[in-house]
Amino acid sequence: MLVLYNWGFENMRVLLFLLGLALTFQVTGNGNSLIAEFNSNSRYLDLTPYILVLADPDHKLTFDEINTAVDPPGFRLLSETGNSFGFSKSTYWLKFTLKIDAATADKILLHLEYPLLDEVTFFKEDRQGGFIQSDTGDTVPFSQREIKFRNFLFQLDQLAGETQVYYFRLKTGGSVQIPLSLQSSSEFIEFADTSGLTYGFYYGVMLILMLAATVAYLLLRDILFLSYALYLFSFLFFQISLNGFGYQYLWSDLNQWTNRINSSSIGFVVVCGFIFCGVFLRVWQKQNRFKYFYNFMIGLGLFSMLMSIFGEFSTAVKMAAFAGILLPPVVLISNIIAIKQGYKPARFFLLAWGIFLLGVFFAGMVYFGLIERNFYTHNSMQIASLIEILILGYVLMHNVKQLHKDKEFAKQVANDYLRQLNEGLETKVSVRTRELELRNKLLSEMALRDSMTGLLNHNTSIDRLSIMSKTAQRYGHNLSVVMLDIDLFKDINDTYGHPAGDKVIHAITDILKHSLRESDSCGRYGGEEFLLLLPETGGDQARELANNIRLKIMKLQIDEIQFHPVSASFGISVFDASNPKVDLISEADKALYQAKESGRNKVVLAV
Ligand code: GH3
Ligand code: MG
Ligand code: MG
Repeated sequence: MLVLYNWGFENMRVLLFLLGLALTFQVTGNGNSLIAEFNSNSRYLDLTPYILVLADPDHKLTFDEINTAVDPPGFRLLSETGNSFGFSKSTYWLKFTLKIDAATADKILLHLEYPLLDEVTFFKEDRQGGFIQSDTGDTVPFSQREIKFRNFLFQLDQLAGETQVYYFRLKTGGSVQIPLSLQSSSEFIEFADTSGLTYGFYYGVMLILMLAATVAYLLLRDILFLSYALYLFSFLFFQISLNGFGYQYLWSDLNQWTNRINSSSIGFVVVCGFIFCGVFLRVWQKQNRFKYFYNFMIGLGLFSMLMSIFGEFSTAVKMAAFAGILLPPVVLISNIIAIKQGYKPARFFLLAWGIFLLGVFFAGMVYFGLIERNFYTHNSMQIASLIEILILGYVLMHNVKQLHKDKEFAKQVANDYLRQLNEGLETKVSVRTRELELRNKLLSEMALRDSMTGLLNHNTSIDRLSIMSKTAQRYGHNLSVVMLDIDLFKDINDTYGHPAGDKVIHAITDILKHSLRESDSCGRYGGEEFLLLLPETGGDQARELANNIRLKIMKLQIDEIQFHPVSASFGISVFDASNPKVDLISEADKALYQAKESGRNKVVLAV
């Protein structure tokens, strides 16, 4: 389990780096004896209590000056200065003395667990009064490292019984921390193996969630998923740049840029953190005043990112760290506002965020020796951030479910509406169609009929006659045509007026309608002339019918014309199959003429 403590420590440093806290902490060690002892059964030794440190702000001191001064007055115990020097441009010289009592089977490794240092020079004795110097740091290509590990590792070849002095010269553009320890190689293998696995698991979960969120974004086009994916990406990027994985695996060839990449990763995580929290808590939609604050913070983060790359990156880091420190309280306030606004997912957010902060709190307590170290307390920040990310992931996936439900509901509502609309439309259409059909029928009938009497009009009468003639011709049936003309109608008009004449026309129309069979047709041929078409009717029958009508007309009594006698004359023609070309109408007309000539009120059958 011990190996995992280191993993937790690494991340605590990352967090402190983000927060820009130049925290000093006292490590209680054996301050009297400055000689570190590592024995055959030792596996791990924190060197902090044994380290002497000297700051050289002007970079003037040389190794010889440091080495030859027996007890240089500038050197102080690291446990007194505190193991974090903030953003310092000084060169730092370190010195410690190590004694090995008994031989160890393992090699001893010196582990400097702070991968962000730009220039690291290690001096170890060569047993001939001189020192061997090795240069490393993140400005030196990764491939040139003695042991290719994300932190700085040095092999000691000190023998049992020997006491040796070691020196470091450190210089960096970022903040300075000096976590130095000794590890037996077997201890280190365990550490590297377990920490690799643990980091792999941790990053694996984040990567999977990031991919899932990206896919969800591509499918649903909801900006929330994109912001979550971006936030995870920035968090991942931030972590791998600060713990050396990024330099080891991704950008070791860009060694001149490492500091800039590292510092821009802080601005990036701040920007993405504010964007994600803001989108999740609907700050831009629902928190009108707060949104400007978010905009400002995001702007500050973006500015810091740009400055990291093109300007003074240590100022950029301070700027991003300032925004980073404000992130938890700002998000907490807008979280509470969102909950008060009745936005349910905000409660999950508070839970997730709370767990993360609790993890940070526990990690801090362990870091400062206030609570007992065990696997859980020591890795509380990682465990908490994992839980946080999983809760947020769950809420987002829950959102997908809700979106799906909403979509289904909306679909159903839309379908219902469409169905109702369709049904309404169908009824409307069918009503309209019926109306139209009726109107069309009426129109076509109007086109066929005489408007005043409702009898067939002139043209229709002729058409009907031509059809009847053809039928009579084909089947050898009888067909008679009667032409009726009201006698001296002009007199009635002239004496009693046109409306009175109309009355007479209507009265005669009624007589005609009631006198005919269904198969017969009756048309108004002219003003006061009527045409009767009588299929299956011979000349004699036609004459009888005409005579009946004549008598009925004579009996007409119409008030308006003061019992002025009304009569009509009839001319009848009969279809002759042997002579089908004969114009039945003109024949009937001729017969009518004869009826008029012979004194009116007569029926004449054409011969
Ligand atoms: P005849 O016995 O020779 O048929 O004499 P008549 O007066 O009936 O014949 P004429 O053709 O001289 O007159 C027909 C009149 O019928 C002329 C016209 O004003 C009238 N008339 C035609 N259509 C209508 C109508 O719809 N209403 C009325 N009131 N009169 C009409
Ligand atoms: Mg006439
Ligand atoms: Mg007439």
